[in-house]
Amino acid sequence: MTDTLVEWQGRAAALTLRNRIWIDGAYHDAAEGGRFATVNPATGQTLTEVARGTAADVDRAVASARAAFDDGRWSRKSPSERKEVLLRLAALIRENVPELALLDTLDMGKPIAESSTIDAPGSAHFFQWHAEAVDKLYDEIAPTGPGDLALIRREPLGVVGAVVPWNFPLDMATWKLAPALATGNSVVLKPAEQSPLSALRLAELAAEAGLPDGVLNVVPGYGHEAGMALGLHPDVDVIAFTGSTEVGKLFQTYAGRSNMKQVWLETGGKSPNLIFPDADLDRAADMAAFGIFFNAGEVCSANSRLLVHREVHDAMVERLAARAAAVRQGNPLDPGTNMGPMVDRGHAERVAGFIERAHAAARLVCGGERVTRDGSDAWITPTIFDRVDPASELARDEVFGPVLAVIPFDDEAEALRLANDSAYGLAASVWTRDIDRALRLSRNLQVGTVSVNTVDALSAMTPFGGVKQSGHGRDLSIHSFDKYTALKTVWIKAGS
Ligand code: NAD
Repeated sequence: MTDTLVEWQGRAAALTLRNRIWIDGAYHDAAEGGRFATVNPATGQTLTEVARGTAADVDRAVASARAAFDDGRWSRKSPSERKEVLLRLAALIRENVPELALLDTLDMGKPIAESSTIDAPGSAHFFQWHAEAVDKLYDEIAPTGPGDLALIRREPLGVVGAVVPWNFPLDMATWKLAPALATGNSVVLKPAEQSPLSALRLAELAAEAGLPDGVLNVVPGYGHEAGMALGLHPDVDVIAFTGSTEVGKLFQTYAGRSNMKQVWLETGGKSPNLIFPDADLDRAADMAAFGIFFNAGEVCSANSRLLVHREVHDAMVERLAARAAAVRQGNPLDPGTNMGPMVDRGHAERVAGFIERAHAAARLVCGGERVTRDGSDAWITPTIFDRVDPASELARDEVFGPVLAVIPFDDEAEALRLANDSAYGLAASVWTRDIDRALRLSRNLQVGTVSVNTVDALSAMTPFGGVKQSGHGRDLSIHSFDKYTALKTVWIKAGS
């Protein structure tokens, strides 16, 4: 891919933005005619006005998904037939990587260097992986003994409501869609209001790949309108949600108030990164900086708490400050940029609030500024606070920005206690050359993923998700199919 700033700007200027609701294989205006602006946070400029889906649109999308599910146009295709369609979709995503990458970069400010090499190719890879996996899954026969035949079959659940956030717009949608569609469900996807554009384009690509009409519907809109309508809908069988813990809890109440639909939650995090004196400090510093500054810290599993042994505390903080100084913050369309703005002004304001309050319980090492650039004041500089009080807000709450809290410890027991002293349990990292220590900690850390001598280890092959208030259920891997299927027992009594 040729990629200079000028070339990316040229491609951006030539983009056609899909900005209407996708139902039953076609774009529609919102039933109530509303629209909302989606804004480029790097410039503050409106990209386009998007149809504002409300309960009436959700009703229509769910009806379309239900009809598609019930007549079997997708749900009763063989896994191999579904695989072929989803492999074509993966190929189409690959052909359209620059466009899809641009849509996410313009919509939410992530660097094009990342959206074009991580997010968009990643989406193709995840569709391909789940497509290839789905016709290798065998059902079971229970060991009942002679005279009986008990089949244990895995069946699609029906209509999936997928509600996703803005930090990896295309990939978070893909993590839900790939396993849900591969197993034969129909889906109504609600992208975040900050970043609806790539999902709306993805729907069109899915149709081009041969996904029958009605199987995938995309309803952009606000959380308290379209999102809530999906959560409360009596004909949605399962909600697959990624987003904040606060909204995740709302989805549990929506289910309780309506049809007791299943609710799977991938929610917030405050992931600890434990550095022991025997670690490779240079490598640990490189990865710790990546762990908090990648995607401007807008990552659920961001390593936002650095727990460091006192022996190597000063050496680590010095290295981290150097890494922060090397971050290239700027125009997300410039391939040399590796940090963009916050997703919008409101979020920048929220992150700046955390920084302002943190001064009372910590020492600022670097950053800590909200700056205006190219007409937008959504920029926060890479920030490190040292000697953060473990009881303070900065040590406990999810900031979702480029703000690292460094907390020293004296021994392994204290490190473990600090690490687990959190409402969240998404991920943790451990840096040590001592294999016994690594194994001991990986057993005792209360999280969904422990990365040893790396951070944020993740692949299509391994489950991703949390414990505690980071949610439950797993995306990715064979286990992701569990969320979108029910086991049915069919017991056949044979004659004696
Ligand atoms: P959010 O919870 O505000 O929004 C997520 C989605 O929920 C959006 O589509 C939004 O429109 C919708 N929503 C908001 N209010 C709603 C309501 N009242 N009813 C129904 N739907 C509603 O989260 P966000 O700000 O978009 O994303 C950031 C959060 O996502 C962070 O907390 C982050 O940790 C989390 N996240 C988690 C993971 C994970 O896998 N665990 C991955 C990425 C992001």
